[in-house]
Amino acid sequence: MSTQPKPSNPLKAVRGTRDLLPPETALWNRIEQTARQVFSRYGFGEIRTPIFEATELFARGVGEETDIVSKEMYSWEDRARAQSEKAQSLTLRPENTAGVVRAYIEHKLGETGDLQKLYYIGPQFRRERPQRGRYRQFWQIGVEVLGPVSSGSESPVRDAEVLEMLATLLDELGVKNWRLELNSVGSTEDRKRYDAALRAALAPVKAQMCEDNQRRAETNPLRVLDSKEPADQEIINALPKIADFLDDSSREHFAAVRAALDACGVPYTVNPRLVRGLDYYTRTTFEFTVPSSSDPASGLGTQNALLGGGRYDGLSEMLGGPKAPGIGFAIGEDRLVLTLQAQAEAAAKAADESSAGAPGLASQTWVQIPKLDAYIAPMGAERNAAALALARELRRAGLSVEVGDGTFRLKKSFEAADKVARHIVILGEDELATNTATVKTFATGEQVKVARGQLGELLRAKG
Ligand code: AMP
Repeated sequence: MSTQPKPSNPLKAVRGTRDLLPPETALWNRIEQTARQVFSRYGFGEIRTPIFEATELFARGVGEETDIVSKEMYSWEDRARAQSEKAQSLTLRPENTAGVVRAYIEHKLGETGDLQKLYYIGPQFRRERPQRGRYRQFWQIGVEVLGPVSSGSESPVRDAEVLEMLATLLDELGVKNWRLELNSVGSTEDRKRYDAALRAALAPVKAQMCEDNQRRAETNPLRVLDSKEPADQEIINALPKIADFLDDSSREHFAAVRAALDACGVPYTVNPRLVRGLDYYTRTTFEFTVPSSSDPASGLGTQNALLGGGRYDGLSEMLGGPKAPGIGFAIGEDRLVLTLQAQAEAAAKAADESSAGAPGLASQTWVQIPKLDAYIAPMGAERNAAALALARELRRAGLSVEVGDGTFRLKKSFEAADKVARHIVILGEDELATNTATVKTFATGEQVKVARGQLGELLRAKG
């Protein structure tokens, strides 16, 4: 039997992946532009690492026992193409921190002695069960601050600065009702003692828990704290708290982060169960959420974590590099888009329902593309070339222009122009002969004939 798809059965994007189309991509661009602007005000530079890396990087960096590495990676054996090449297991990156730290080590960035402040924007890949807000290819906007201890990379100032920057970014993007949840998971040694205490506390009760939690209790008891399994919550809430296992320096570090946030006026809630899904975290861990499924304005349903991050003081060494404490986060861009869309829709609805609603809110839709300055309508196919030449002139002068087709009837040209542009420029025999153009401004209904030299000025005028 043929495996060729039938023509009547067109191919679709792979499950868990999707196409982003205009006008929605305008919102993605706006988010990315705002992020770039905010990050540059805090002294960050962009890093771009490859989309695939050696599988070992994630196994060592993210942790073999994490859900990501144990079941969600897209990995394949890359065949050797030449004798000089070795067959190698490669993986589409499921996150970007390990790649950034690999690059930090590879390019010996630590030898500069400077604190590295890096950001990235790009796709990540995890074979998760797709649902709203959870995809197999998704985008992250992330930041990493790392460097040798002498660069101040361990300082609680860095943690607080990153959190304050996130609060500023979310405010500038217009995200409403965000919540910062904060915790400290202590040093690697604190974690070892806590791990032992958790194992001891879980031993007598784990048989009553769901299958996943029974497995986690054996392999990585910290992960049990992440569990959302309703039936297990009572047991989980009664487990020892990591705060009671922090040594003095981790405790002081956490207190200093909180004091700096208080000084900046950034609100937060300490959540003792926030341990995050990746193994490399030490000390500060955090998540920003928006109201969950009970509030439709979040747009995220049960996936209410907009972003997550934390400190990873031992990661560089885990990857064979020098000591390079660091802190970072990754924003789920897909979820940010869903949240902004849902919040804009909710605000527009509220404004429509109440006559006293804030003026202008309803028009603050996130998916509107601004209208072009002009639509050029050639009258007759023989004027198409002249229309394109005029469009070139205007576009090169910085105007946004669409060109119609000379075979269109005048009515069709007007309808097409009204959809996409603020003005229609009619180019007929007479206009070409006299070096003029007839321009109609849709907002006012005004129609004038102007000399070609004045066309740019007229089209630039808002109307
Ligand atoms: P993580 O790298 O797991 O700490 O995730 C950081 C952020 O990325 C999360 O808070 C989500 O917003 C986003 N994220 C993680 N996994 C997915 C996914 N499968 N689809 C969409 N967004 C995701």
